[in-house]
Amino acid sequence: MCCHTIDEESLQRGEKWPLYKEQIAGMQFFDPHVHMTSRTTDDYQAMADAGVVALIEPAFWLGQPRTGLDTFRDYYSSLIGWERFRASQFGIKHYCTIGLNSREANNEALAEQVMEILPLFVYKEGVVGVGEIGFDDQTAAEEKYYRLQLELAKEAGLPVQIHTPHRDKKKGTTRSMDIALEHGLDPRMVIVDHNNEETVKEVLDRGFWAAFTIYPFTKMGNERMVDVVKQYGPERIMVNSAADWGISDPLAVPKTAALMKERGISVEDIRLVTYQNAVTAFAQSGQIEESDFSSVKSIDQSQKFAGNTVLRGGQAPRVDKDSVFIR
Ligand SMILES: [Zn+2]
Repeated sequence: MCCHTIDEESLQRGEKWPLYKEQIAGMQFFDPHVHMTSRTTDDYQAMADAGVVALIEPAFWLGQPRTGLDTFRDYYSSLIGWERFRASQFGIKHYCTIGLNSREANNEALAEQVMEILPLFVYKEGVVGVGEIGFDDQTAAEEKYYRLQLELAKEAGLPVQIHTPHRDKKKGTTRSMDIALEHGLDPRMVIVDHNNEETVKEVLDRGFWAAFTIYPFTKMGNERMVDVVKQYGPERIMVNSAADWGISDPLAVPKTAALMKERGISVEDIRLVTYQNAVTAFAQSGQIEESDFSSVKSIDQSQKFAGNTVLRGGQAPRVDKDSVFIR
């Protein structure tokens, strides 16, 4: 057997899965940005099988315009409730960040009301930051609610997860950091997300964390991520999938790790950018203990959340032996 190498296209098409899975066997991953609410149980299973042990689900835009405040209340509640339970049923530890995303900050009447309920959620257990917040179209309303939420993060002592705009990214990224500093935030408490080759140097030079989202077929791909780590090293860099309801890949983190291994990046550097740095950054919330990752490892799918399970009629629950309490 020879000549089986991993390349970006085959990774994204899902080919050679056994090969790259073999490359990363035994490694653990932390995906610090993934919208599981939009994903399926198959995704959870595939992530667990690929070594994802924990993840962060940032609050964001659901695609459908909101009709009222209660939809935010229910959404935030599901991030700390049902979705956390659902992840646990696949052995994955689920955390979230809570915030008003930039796009919906433009609905000012609603944004005002959302700001009033945010403090009811950011202090809850397992909330590891205020996010994802920042700029989309870089409007005055976006700036207003970004600033208000930076103050909220400061008050709560929580890290901030910044969404940088896809249009006019360089300017938006610089502006996001300028404003964070203006509000007196320590750059080490701020994770700047969706970086690319144009933004990474400034983000790292100014002492912020630089997160990279691997988007299939576009923008930041796996190959480009490998080059970034080769050029800048692993310090304060982290990789995420930002998988959501659009075309995205919940396995982006383990796949990128496999490609890094293939391209000769050390196992320790891979561990830093696909696991440890994100843990370190968000553990500043005081809400993450690595030992908790194993607390969901013994799966008992006969458990219920508010009377609901992940099972459908007639399905047998998976109950790991060591989760059964034997008297
Ligand atoms: Zn997102």
